[in-house]
Amino acid sequence: MDLKDLQAIADLTVERLGRAHVPPIRLKNTLRGRAGKDFISIPLWVIHYPYPLEFVIYYVVHEVCHYFYGFRHDRAFKAGETKTLSLWGLKPIYARAYIKKLIGDNGNIVYDKKTIQNGM
Ligand SMILES: [Zn+2]
Repeated sequence: MDLKDLQAIADLTVERLGRAHVPPIRLKNTLRGRAGKDFISIPLWVIHYPYPLEFVIYYVVHEVCHYFYGFRHDRAFKAGETKTLSLWGLKPIYARAYIKKLIGDNGNIVYDKKTIQNGM
C-alpha cells in the first residue's frame, strides 16, 4: 500500500460518483487527514498495520467526501459518505463523527475499531 494506491482509490471514488476530480493525494506524517484545495492529506499511519484495506478505502473516501460534501460531520455529510462507501460495497456504523465498524458486501464486519489498539 503506497501513495499510488491511495490516489487510485481517490480516482475510482471520483469516477464512481460521476465527479470530475479531486486535488492530488499526499501522505503526511500527521495525526489527522485533511481535504484542502490543493491537496488531500492522508496520515501515514493509515497505510500501516493493523489497518485493513477496507479501512484505508474508508479513510480516503472520508477525505474525498469532505471535498464534495463540506467540512462538517453533519447529517448531509454522513449521507454522502454512506452513499459513497456503498459504491465500494461498504456500510459504515457510526460513532459520532467517525466509524466504529465497517460492514462488507457479504454482511461481515471488515473493520472493528475495538479490535485495533490505539486506532482512531
Ligand atoms: Zn472528517
